[in-house]
Amino acid sequence: PGTRRPQRLSVLGATGSIGTSTLDLVGRHPDRFEIVALTAQCNAARLAELAIAHRAQLAVIGDPAYYDDLKSHLAGTGIRVAAGADAVEAAALEPADCVMAAIVGAAGLTPTFAAAGQGCRVALANKECLVSAGDIFLRHVRQSGAELLPVDSEHSGAFQSIGQTQAASIEKIVLTASGGPFRTLDRHALARVTPEQALKHPNWSMGAKVTIDSATLMNKGLELIEAYHLFPVEAHQLEAIVHPQSVVHCLVMLEDGSVMAQLSQPDMRTPIALALSWPERLTTPVSRLDLLALKTLSFEAPDLDRFPALGIATDALRHGGAAPAVLNAANEVAVAAFIDRKIGFLDIAQTVASCLEKAESLGLLSSVETLEDVLAVDLEARNMARMLLPG
Ligand code: NAD
Ligand code: MG
Repeated sequence: PGTRRPQRLSVLGATGSIGTSTLDLVGRHPDRFEIVALTAQCNAARLAELAIAHRAQLAVIGDPAYYDDLKSHLAGTGIRVAAGADAVEAAALEPADCVMAAIVGAAGLTPTFAAAGQGCRVALANKECLVSAGDIFLRHVRQSGAELLPVDSEHSGAFQSIGQTQAASIEKIVLTASGGPFRTLDRHALARVTPEQALKHPNWSMGAKVTIDSATLMNKGLELIEAYHLFPVEAHQLEAIVHPQSVVHCLVMLEDGSVMAQLSQPDMRTPIALALSWPERLTTPVSRLDLLALKTLSFEAPDLDRFPALGIATDALRHGGAAPAVLNAANEVAVAAFIDRKIGFLDIAQTVASCLEKAESLGLLSSVETLEDVLAVDLEARNMARMLLPG
């Protein structure tokens, strides 16, 4: 391995939770990676710090308001700088062996498509890309010869558990959900939870949006749609169960009665390492699993009355067409409104459900054929969701 050329890696969303975990691993294996481009939306100081630490060739800030800030931080370093959404997309096109797609939300669609378009490995954290544009994205991946590897822990677990198993032998894929911080609260209590409480996840440390999604169980719904696109199963073969310890990430049930599962500590560096190094492995500092210390792994059925988002997402998956794109867009608007204290916790799922109903009544849930179609649906659904926000 000593003589091997380092892997050229770009990280879209470098300042985020997944981005920094990725660069943490890169920093521990400096001989294995060469950083091409790093991007972020607003935090120019942090982006510049990461670009210098990892000797990136290019640093791109999405919001042009921070361009001067970025330029001054990187003056004299020789690191190229750029700003704006087009520059983020161009960063994804810089020749690389692997692009970590770790922008949050539908904002990641265009750059992730661009990364796949160059035919390299795409380590996909941006689950919203598969939710909103699954079929279109997969076609794009096939046509460009890109290699798609899941970063989401449950999907990394499923990918590993499936291994060489033939599609026809898979009966069911079960994704586990921690249940979030409100797993045991009743609806009355759920109506009153604050953004601060929702942002404290019991097991995982993640960006704000996915943390709120974990609290509503919308995250698991988005992940069922993600799994539908990644693995050779039908919607009815996918299931979610609550597993509060977040140690078993996924169960793949086979026709001979075998169940393949993947276990690891709830630390994203394990699935990130896999996406970067597969079929090899990368050592990580993640603490090793100690089952005797854990003693108990427990499982329970998700409660769709208290956490309706999971059911709404499952319905959107079964509906297909533009429904998952509308679901995702409405959810992004509702989560942002909850974080801004404009709506309550239970209003998140309610807003998404209303938006889907409205979109259906207007005939907007029919099929989408191109990325442009998806972006148009996304925009329309956002506007609709804003109108439907209570209060
Ligand atoms: P985060 O909020 O911590 O980071 C998001 C990154 O995207 C930041 O670098 C930010 O600057 C950038 N960004 C935000 N808006 C942007 C825009 N409009 N244009 C360009 N860049 C933008 O999010 P995260 O938790 O790292 O999650 C990233 C993705 O990974 C999400 O899709 C999430 O669902 C998925 N994911 C995250 C985790 C986790 O543990 N954090 C686990 C599984 C999947
Ligand atoms: Mg996950």
